[in-house]
Amino acid sequence: MIRHEQHISFDDTEKAFAHKTTAELKSSRFVFKMMQNPTLVDVLSRMTLFALKIHLPIEWAIKRTIFKQFCGGTTIQDCTKNYELLRKHNIEAILDYSVEGQEDDKAFDFVEKEVIRLIENAKKHASIPTTCLKMTGLARLELLEKVNQDKELSEKEKQEYNRVIKRLDHICKKASELEVRIYIDAEETWIQEAIDRLAEVMMQRYNKEKTIVFTTLQMYRHDRLAYLHRLIELSKSQNFYLGIKQVRGAYMEKERERAIEMNYPSPIQPDKLATDRDYNEGLKVMIENIDRVEICAGTHNEESAMYLTQLLKEKAIEKSDTRVFFSQLFGMSDNISFILASIGYNVSKYLPYGPVRFTMPYLIRRAEENTSVAGQMGKELRLVDQEIRRRG
Ligand SMILES: Cc1cc2nc3c(=O)[nH]c(=O)nc-3n(C[C@H](O)[C@H](O)[C@H](O)COP(=O)(O)OP(=O)(O)OC[C@H]3O[C@@H](n4cnc5c(N)ncnc54)[C@H](O)[C@@H]3O)c2cc1C
Repeated sequence: MIRHEQHISFDDTEKAFAHKTTAELKSSRFVFKMMQNPTLVDVLSRMTLFALKIHLPIEWAIKRTIFKQFCGGTTIQDCTKNYELLRKHNIEAILDYSVEGQEDDKAFDFVEKEVIRLIENAKKHASIPTTCLKMTGLARLELLEKVNQDKELSEKEKQEYNRVIKRLDHICKKASELEVRIYIDAEETWIQEAIDRLAEVMMQRYNKEKTIVFTTLQMYRHDRLAYLHRLIELSKSQNFYLGIKQVRGAYMEKERERAIEMNYPSPIQPDKLATDRDYNEGLKVMIENIDRVEICAGTHNEESAMYLTQLLKEKAIEKSDTRVFFSQLFGMSDNISFILASIGYNVSKYLPYGPVRFTMPYLIRRAEENTSVAGQMGKELRLVDQEIRRRG
């Protein structure tokens, strides 16, 4: 029999933070408080990047504050404690090798090997093993940009691009052999078309019998709902399963600024309401096509998470149906993750890791997102505060 709750509350901070000591909560409060000030975030981000560049020994300070809040550790091994903590609460950890902005083959080959290690690690430790990757971890940004624009590649670039495809294929093949899901993250629009094409090829290749490869849709783009429909048609005509991680999108300001600077229409929705509307509509469309689509709803938005629970209820889909996952980032929206997991929904959390200096772009994105998105940091702070006060 399918059982769903009559009512779910995301305000139960006792449940949301049962895994944290009061000292840890106070440390979270300190980080969230700092992040509420956009000027401070801006100044600190610049100073930190500069200090790291000139090799000032400041890594310990980052490690004890923002890194500890949002990252699992510096190596796979180092993440064990957080990984196990999440598992204890029925949450799958998706280890995310969060190194960005590399520029040479040696670094890309290293990422390929690291993601393969992640696949093996997930297989060993997780009950529904999943990993993720960023294409900019495997390829040069300029190369992806050129492919994105359908520009002619030189002979050398063609070889370089073939190596990129080979890296991605090795990873997806390994994931398929070990039956580990792999989420291909979405990035900036000026390289996303290239990433979409690669993700489509890999889904067609490896999702014939099971959903192994997932692409990511950013619903802050006004064209993604139409793309979702095209993908569903493609999966029907080519007979493969679709894996979709749906998010709102993390590069909004950068996207808008570039569009103005280079004088082209912004790919971003006119307002937040439009993003929210398409996000929820995307969930509905995917649930209606659940026989073809496996879903990861990557979101910290309580209404969207709640809406997905309602859709499951309406369509009489089990909470534990592994075709549907709710997913949040480590260190954020524990109220959604821990509460949903405690009542039997499938929940995962991205657990980023890597050497401190290389995780800075990720950490700065979290900081900027949390200051620029009205409400999110205030919400995190309010929940943490409420729990500290409740404990007295
Ligand atoms: C598990 C997981 C995986 C993720 N993977 C990716 C990924 O691969 N690629 C990626 O880009 N991001 C990724 N993200 C980040 C994600 O895109 C969002 O930045 C973040 O989750 C905040 O959105 P939200 O749905 O949680 O909710 P909310 O806090 O409700 O929404 C904030 C988001 O709404 C949008 N928005 C805000 N203001 C406006 C406005 N004025 N007009 C239009 N839109 C607006 C922006 O996208 C903003 O980030 C991931 C997040 C999670 C939890």
